Amino acid sequence: MSTPDRDQRQRFLFEHSDIRGEILSLESSYQTTLSKANYPPAIARLLGEFLAGACLLSGTLKFEGSISLQASGRGSLRLIMAECSHHQNIRAIAQTRPDLLATSLDEANAEEAPGLKTLLGANATLAVTINPERGERYQGIIPIESDSLSQCLESYFRQSEQLATGIWLSANGQRAAGLLIQALPEGVQSTDAREEHWRHLCHLASTLSAQEQLELSHNTILHRLFHEQSLRLFTPAEMSFSCTCSSARTLEALASFGKEELQAMLAETNPVEVTCQFCHHHYHFTRADIESAFKSTTATMH
Ligand SMILES: [Zn+2]
Repeated sequence: MSTPDRDQRQRFLFEHSDIRGEILSLESSYQTTLSKANYPPAIARLLGEFLAGACLLSGTLKFEGSISLQASGRGSLRLIMAECSHHQNIRAIAQTRPDLLATSLDEANAEEAPGLKTLLGANATLAVTINPERGERYQGIIPIESDSLSQCLESYFRQSEQLATGIWLSANGQRAAGLLIQALPEGVQSTDAREEHWRHLCHLASTLSAQEQLELSHNTILHRLFHEQSLRLFTPAEMSFSCTCSSARTLEALASFGKEELQAMLAETNPVEVTCQFCHHHYHFTRADIESAFKSTTATMH
């Protein structure tokens, strides 16, 4: 019996091919994320899938920066967002409409929790945002046409990156896991050979059950699925929960409300208190802090 890996992401390559992969397991980083709010089980599982998805995608980045997945809609789930940086720091949040949520969870069969599209409602979208530390931010937005986040991300890759990508995500409120297989455009295989090989690997990967994905070690999973392939597994990266909020960033976000709005806030309470939704850190800003934020904005505008 193999013990599962914890809070690790590992890259692998299929030798003599143009196909790469990422395998991921989250445990305490996921549990810390969930401990910041009291999420219903269906939302906690989705948050695990979002975290796993963001972590897998961050493994595909070729530069330093962060990647976030954010879905929003008009259903019982208003917003769900997960972010992963190149330092392997993760954070996530979900916002629900409690009145609608109670109904959608009651209506759902106990065995089959409502999926992404059902919870978000009609016309929901998924935004994939890549924030490089240097250079332009990139955002791709796709409509959510499936209850499965894996399928939404696969169509994101087809549309935006034009890379054949297979993604498998699982989460159960305690652990979250992900597997990605991607065919790269250039390299040693002919287009047809690469496509056929990729399909074969996806077929093998789809035999993995959610339970196996959540309970087995990376080595066992990869051996079970791909023992006939020659596979190179790289050193794992450690994933952890960490919030990137700071006093300066929070003040900047506050300043975006505009001077008048902030004057009204200060008239009510001085200092103004802001709580980070990801980590619950409290920030206090006095009138002088807020005025200095506007001074520095004006200074940079000139
Ligand atoms: Zn924070």
